[in-house]
Amino acid sequence: MDAAIAYAERGWSVIPLHGVNDDGTCTCYLGTECDSPGKHPLHRDWPETASDDPDLVREWWESFRGAPRNVGIVCGKSNLVVIDIDDDEGERRLEQIASEIPPCPQVRTRRGIHLYLSGQVQAAKLTGLDIKAGNGFVVAPPSARVDGGNYEWV
Ligand SMILES: [Zn+2]
Repeated sequence: MDAAIAYAERGWSVIPLHGVNDDGTCTCYLGTECDSPGKHPLHRDWPETASDDPDLVREWWESFRGAPRNVGIVCGKSNLVVIDIDDDEGERRLEQIASEIPPCPQVRTRRGIHLYLSGQVQAAKLTGLDIKAGNGFVVAPPSARVDGGNYEWV
């Protein structure tokens, strides 16, 4: 909850995501059958309800009463473009343009890294990379991963 509120306070639009139970299953009704454990929105209307109001975000998390929930950030509304590097191809492409990318917040994910760029970044530079922007969202720290680890700032 503290992280979600802090993101709202810095103007990022937050959404609650399903969480990961202690046994590694998703908190959604699909449980072990879920193909995206802890990585999908809790609410169907998330594109509209995503919020940067810290009071509202606090209300959401208090209503979960301690149930495991992950936190997502909706990119466009937060003025973010996030590069998702999760394979060798992405890493190679990133090396090619690394000198053109300004210093930015980075998150360690299960298989790679997320780079949080300002929304003003020139899209042409990012050709060939997996980009989350607009109505895309990212799973943000300290969200729980299915492998038992957590997303974390690096
Ligand atoms: Zn699920």
